[in-house]
Amino acid sequence: MIPILMYHQITPPSKKGTRLRGSMVHPQRFASQMRWLKRLGYTGLSLAELDPYLKGKKQGRVVGITFDDGYQNVHDNALPILTELGFSSTNFIVSGEIDGENTWAQATGSPEAKLMCEASIRNWAQSGQEIGSHTVSHVHLAKVSPEEALQQLKQSKLDLEQLLQQEISSFCYPYGSYNHAVKTQVEALGYQRAVTTERGLAGAQDALHALPRVNILRSTHLIHFLRKVLTGYENKKRAGKD
Ligand SMILES: [Zn+2]
Repeated sequence: MIPILMYHQITPPSKKGTRLRGSMVHPQRFASQMRWLKRLGYTGLSLAELDPYLKGKKQGRVVGITFDDGYQNVHDNALPILTELGFSSTNFIVSGEIDGENTWAQATGSPEAKLMCEASIRNWAQSGQEIGSHTVSHVHLAKVSPEEALQQLKQSKLDLEQLLQQEISSFCYPYGSYNHAVKTQVEALGYQRAVTTERGLAGAQDALHALPRVNILRSTHLIHFLRKVLTGYENKKRAGKD
């Protein structure tokens, strides 16, 4: 069973009571989590590099690392430590908001946060990290029309491939919103794998286009982090056993 970590922002948290604060992990806490993984003999990998492990072709102490939305603070605060430790990770970009802001979240009252510009995205990829797609405008794919869903999936892949001149093979469903039809579209467009917001460790029983993740929050202290990553805790939660 492989934990695929889900992070959003790596930054000192915003004021108490503000929305999204829960998903802002302090850079020092993130660094400590990564160092502990290394110390315990684990390697953090992007989804592309995790692929053979997910398919059971390779075995080893590996953890998937993913960041949703492409925040500039992830580039600035997470990249140095990932590089230092020789870890890779995947960052999911909203292709219509490059050099923009989290406008979809601001619409529901979240504080504004800057998203990576083209130069940061290029630097991320050139540093051995992976760029994945998170649609063009962060839509609920299960709620929009099939035509709109297709356009979002297709255009974001094209935008990012044009920018980086390399294949984009990983996808992340915004809001974890998908259904069978959307999943089929993702596969048909040539994405090799996709992650959801469903809870659990990834294993052989999981479809490659609906991989569960382990959510790491501002409040996830070290002992809890290690319990989530190294034990069957998340799978018990997934099964709804407690
Ligand atoms: Zn998102």
